[in-house]
Amino acid sequence: MRKQVEIFISGAGVAGLTLALLLADKNISVGLVDPVKALPLPQTPHGTRTAAIQNRFLPLLERSGALEKIKDLCAALKTIRIIDPQGQNFTDKLEALFGAEDIRNDKLSLNIPISFLRAALYDTALNNEFINFFENTRTKNIKFGDVSNIVTLENGNEIEASLCVSADGVNSVFRKEANIGIKSKNYSQTAMTCILSHTKPHENISTEFHYPGGPFTLVPLPGHTSSLVWLEKTELSKKYLSYNKDNIEKLLQQKSQGILGQLSLTSSVDSLPLRSFIAKDFTGNRLILLAESAHCLSPIGAQGLNMSLKDIEIFLEVLSKNIYLGQSIGSRQMLANYNDERRRDTNFRAAAVHGLNQIVSNNLPTSKAVRRFSLNVLKSTPRLKEKVMNIGMGDDQIMK
Ligand SMILES: Cc1cc2nc3c(=O)[nH]c(=O)nc-3n(C[C@H](O)[C@H](O)[C@H](O)COP(=O)(O)OP(=O)(O)OC[C@H]3O[C@@H](n4cnc5c(N)ncnc54)[C@H](O)[C@@H]3O)c2cc1C
Repeated sequence: MRKQVEIFISGAGVAGLTLALLLADKNISVGLVDPVKALPLPQTPHGTRTAAIQNRFLPLLERSGALEKIKDLCAALKTIRIIDPQGQNFTDKLEALFGAEDIRNDKLSLNIPISFLRAALYDTALNNEFINFFENTRTKNIKFGDVSNIVTLENGNEIEASLCVSADGVNSVFRKEANIGIKSKNYSQTAMTCILSHTKPHENISTEFHYPGGPFTLVPLPGHTSSLVWLEKTELSKKYLSYNKDNIEKLLQQKSQGILGQLSLTSSVDSLPLRSFIAKDFTGNRLILLAESAHCLSPIGAQGLNMSLKDIEIFLEVLSKNIYLGQSIGSRQMLANYNDERRRDTNFRAAAVHGLNQIVSNNLPTSKAVRRFSLNVLKSTPRLKEKVMNIGMGDDQIMK
């Protein structure tokens, strides 16, 4: 069977689903495939990963129609507290606060559980007449053509589309089929994630301890719960992951310095070896790469999914311009515009995240000095602090 659509998206993760819904909103016919089904809310299991989505990208998720369904499961992040512990028993610790008021806002971001967000997007997409959903199968290969590409799925179905979008994550099939290489960095770090309940309120403050293995970050969720993102050297993380529940809770208690009172695990502790890369090209023949098929960064700085939402924002902008100029969807001009726009911002953020990871995740005296000096300068220079915070929150004016 061969089906025709205007745009075909490989991968129904958060990025693929959001794009599909926003395209459908413009009456564009979309094909969407993913081998992994999402369980409907409220049966969706609470995974251990959450993403802090910056204010400026929330309207995209609102427009998709999914955010409304899960807003009670998310929490506003109003302040980031950075703690740089030093010395035995944290005798010389340095603390800095970065509040929403510093950038004249009521919050910095919204912390959203990824499994709930995907379930809400999935549910919304299933009922959309413009989205042709291919479930329980995956993209196998692609035949590139002048006016369209033909995608073959593992179940034998074929889809013809004017433009294909790769949103199928770090091991993207489309990226490999288009022979697009990646530039990667190896950190030998592992991200450990879990959900915790605690006796003290978090007061919508995300607390980030800078330890030599990487940051240990508690991010607010509704009530007395928080998600934890903890980066650690891989060798050490293997040891910690072998601990039983009591021992890991004791370790988390010690690492959190009691800032949220008594901690209890309400989930498993999951782990993911850190990957970091950028695709050498964000486009191919009638092909656009976005989200983690194009870029995957360390979670430090919480940029990943926000950058994917920026990809979607720019994609929609170049598409509208393309349609206005009467060009075919996926024209060379459209692809060139997307690549130019996204490359500058992505390179800048990847370099910033890499630099931050290098400065934070070690115990070298020079790094320590730079870290503490920078925090002190930001603390005492409100205008610089506002500028740095705005860039971290997705402002790209500095690149223009
Ligand atoms: C510990 C941690 C904390 C993070 N915190 C933040 C944060 O605070 N803020 C932030 O912005 N970002 C954060 N991120 C990044 C964010 O979680 C990711 O960028 C985001 O979840 C990736 O979404 P995605 O849709 O690109 O990829 P994925 O979720 O990987 O989606 C890819 C989809 O493609 C499907 N697929 C794979 N192969 C095929 C195929 N052949 N055919 C069809 N479909 C296929 C998969 O099944 C999957 O559903 C964090 C990441 C980590 C690891």
